[in-house]
Amino acid sequence: MGEFDLIARYFTRPARRAVLGVGDDCALWQPQTGMQLAISSDMLVEGRHFLSTVSPQRLGHKALAVNLSDLAASGAKPLAFTLSLALPRIDEAWLKGFSEGMLALADLHQCELIGGDTTQGPLTIGITVFGEVPPGDALLRNAAQAGDDIYISGSVGDARLALEVFRGNLSVSAADFESARQRMEQPEPRVALGMSLRGIANACIDVSDGLAGDLGHILKASQVGAVLTTDWIQDSAAISAALQALPFARRLDMALAGGDDYELLFTAPPDQADAVQEAANDCDVSITCIGRITSGSGLQVLDAHGVPMSRRFASFDHFS
Ligand code: ADP
Ligand code: MG
Repeated sequence: MGEFDLIARYFTRPARRAVLGVGDDCALWQPQTGMQLAISSDMLVEGRHFLSTVSPQRLGHKALAVNLSDLAASGAKPLAFTLSLALPRIDEAWLKGFSEGMLALADLHQCELIGGDTTQGPLTIGITVFGEVPPGDALLRNAAQAGDDIYISGSVGDARLALEVFRGNLSVSAADFESARQRMEQPEPRVALGMSLRGIANACIDVSDGLAGDLGHILKASQVGAVLTTDWIQDSAAISAALQALPFARRLDMALAGGDDYELLFTAPPDQADAVQEAANDCDVSITCIGRITSGSGLQVLDAHGVPMSRRFASFDHFS
């Protein structure tokens, strides 16, 4: 099988909303009048962003999920994506699983694969997603206001827990490992929640490098500070049963600096608390209030007694 058969068999489907999909020099897309495009790219490199043990289905899912998560963080509605793929060799079983995992998630979000590039090389997956959002409605990092509540969707720390088990640094029950592994390998992008938070949330970001570090991006862009509580790490929807079984300090680390969570971290004024909760209920996603934006600068994490902790929570940096 050659490059073009591969594209035809695994990555070409009839165009739906696209004017022209895979197969020509360019795809063609007719933007809806008056909408803004939201565009984001994310790349996954074997050994860097995923372990070679991951199943091709789950990898296909995750590669698209991390991109959809960026659209979610902007409050954008997914439209289409392109896929740039470097493959060491043509492995049909792998391609079948990978494309099925990816296209199942694409269908779930009605996000159409409209083009890409395929080449030989170390396994690398680059995706660019396109979404739409009404002008002025996109959720940005720079819009947090002093006094805002800070929320996290779903749960954090599970992907890191699974990674530590894979690395042999931690052992947990088989059931806890399986659920954490599922969270690491098949994150659910919070697309519906992001769209529902338009006009309700102030700032928003998706958590990929770790909650504390990603909150830092909001604080810097918005020129504000934040105080995080830690009572929610004792007991809340944001901490899974798997994480709950670990000692507090370890849990705290994984929740605040674990990374790979793909949850939405957002701020909203206290008078929007009911609207925030309603949006979360409508989307069937749990949310947890974890702190407050302040007029200061930097991040303070309070211990169980309300005393600021001296330690810092490093976020993931590919070049450090
Ligand atoms: P060109 O040489 O004009 O860049 P290619 O030969 O790379 O085009 O690709 C042929 C067609 O297949 C193009 O429409 C391109 O967008 C599409 N394509 C290539 N690789 C992929 C892929 N991995 N997924 C989806 N579409 C792809
Ligand atoms: Mg090309």
